[in-house]
Amino acid sequence: MSNEIPAADQTVIADLPRLLKLQKDAVLKDGAPNLALRRDRLARLSALLHDNRHKLADAMSQDFGNRARATSLLYDVLALLGSIAHTREHLHLWMQPDLHPDPAPGAYARVEYQPKGVVGVVSPWNFPVQLAIGPIVGILAAGNRSLLKPSELTPATSELQKELIAAAFDESELSVVTGGPAVGAAFTALAFDHMIFTGSTVVGKHVAHAAADNLVPVTLELGGKSPAIISHSADLEQAVSRLLTAKVLNSGQLCVSPDYTLVPEDKREAFVEIANRTIARVFPTQTDNADYTTIVNERHFNRINGLIEDARAKGAKIVPLVPAGEAPVDPATRRIAPTLVLDTQPGQQILEEEIFGPLLPVITYTTIDEAIAYVNARPRPLALYYFGKDALEERLVLDRTTSGGVTINDCISHLSDENLPFGGVGDSGQGHYHGVYGFRTFSHAKAVYRQADLVPAAALVSPPFSESNRAFLEQAFAAFAPK
Ligand code: NAD
Repeated sequence: MSNEIPAADQTVIADLPRLLKLQKDAVLKDGAPNLALRRDRLARLSALLHDNRHKLADAMSQDFGNRARATSLLYDVLALLGSIAHTREHLHLWMQPDLHPDPAPGAYARVEYQPKGVVGVVSPWNFPVQLAIGPIVGILAAGNRSLLKPSELTPATSELQKELIAAAFDESELSVVTGGPAVGAAFTALAFDHMIFTGSTVVGKHVAHAAADNLVPVTLELGGKSPAIISHSADLEQAVSRLLTAKVLNSGQLCVSPDYTLVPEDKREAFVEIANRTIARVFPTQTDNADYTTIVNERHFNRINGLIEDARAKGAKIVPLVPAGEAPVDPATRRIAPTLVLDTQPGQQILEEEIFGPLLPVITYTTIDEAIAYVNARPRPLALYYFGKDALEERLVLDRTTSGGVTINDCISHLSDENLPFGGVGDSGQGHYHGVYGFRTFSHAKAVYRQADLVPAAALVSPPFSESNRAFLEQAFAAFAPK
């Protein structure tokens, strides 16, 4: 093993096969857990989140430098409590087999949802509790055991989750391992029964390769550039206010953050004016504002700042939405003001890579076909937002673009509804979870067919083939003759 791998990571890597075997042996020994045990596991998860919500918020703030407490409590903890409650309430229905009409007299066919076994979870830093525990809700609901590898970029939160989970769960039910990319690579090379990875598209490709070596089914929750189309028909005041409010959530460090916006040419000046007012209302101050989340680390701070400088150098107009007298970029606190980027040109990095920060390129268009073509010239996004009141145009956008999900007249809402599947498509991911969709993703849909005692057609379909078999086939094909 390379000396570049930290000693702590090497210890974790060496222990991974033991942990996986422990959980796989427990699957074989105990079989599928019943409803009561699944609900109990979910209740333990809920209690540890509820009772430690302030500790978790403190850890997230420590990891970020400053993270808005309300963001941590609302999106990382409360959202999960809602998801667990929804799952506990509906689980008895989801676990029922799907019965199918008798395929033949006396026969019986059904689909049973069986736990897959042991599911590996790899999670990112940006919502370090929601994206670590979120998949585990569906995994435990489906009766699996699980190993979690959270992000090394939020070490305090990851260590706290490890400690809390170890106190509430037996290692054979649910366990956390911590470490960096080397641990991630060794972890995803394990022969899990399913894996779910949330993170960047680049690392997602490595994970898909590693999973392929063991034929492990893998759900990939990736990122990308999610567009927001403002229609000619939009209520501009409402649209810009909602768009900007979503953009600044977690300072844009959000997978479904609107990455860029397409705005009718003749509405650009009004857009900028409303954006200024919206941010002034939401953040009357920024530098010392505890509600304003900082950029997670210096590398990302420099990366985002680099996108601003690259765009400026290549002709863009940079419009920071910052209170008078405050610096738009503050290296000491790692705060970057919400910033509009106008007059973008092809070749600017900000148009090529996922921004994952509080910058918003404003790209103008004249016809909706032009806006749709712009979206379709790029990889399929995780989310698409459409703001408008024109039903025909809305239908056109829905029919002619492909994205993981869509929210109309707002941002992000499709992600918070437990009744909707959440996932990407193409470069933004594959597979989905949340609610019943997570339960099904983490279950094996097993076809079960019980044959009748008497099979009327048996003599017609097995040798020795005779005239009656020929007549049977003729009759069967006649039923499918083109009309
Ligand atoms: P990342 O891909 O750098 O890291 C994610 C996880 O992968 C971490 O736990 C990391 O340790 C691990 N890892 C690193 N190298 C690995 C390897 N070679 N093999 C296996 N695992 C490895 O992503 P990030 O910077 O933590 O998160 C930001 C990205 O995640 C953005 O692209 C964002 O859009 C995306 N994201 C997607 C969703 C979603 O639900 N679709 C949610 C949040 C973030």
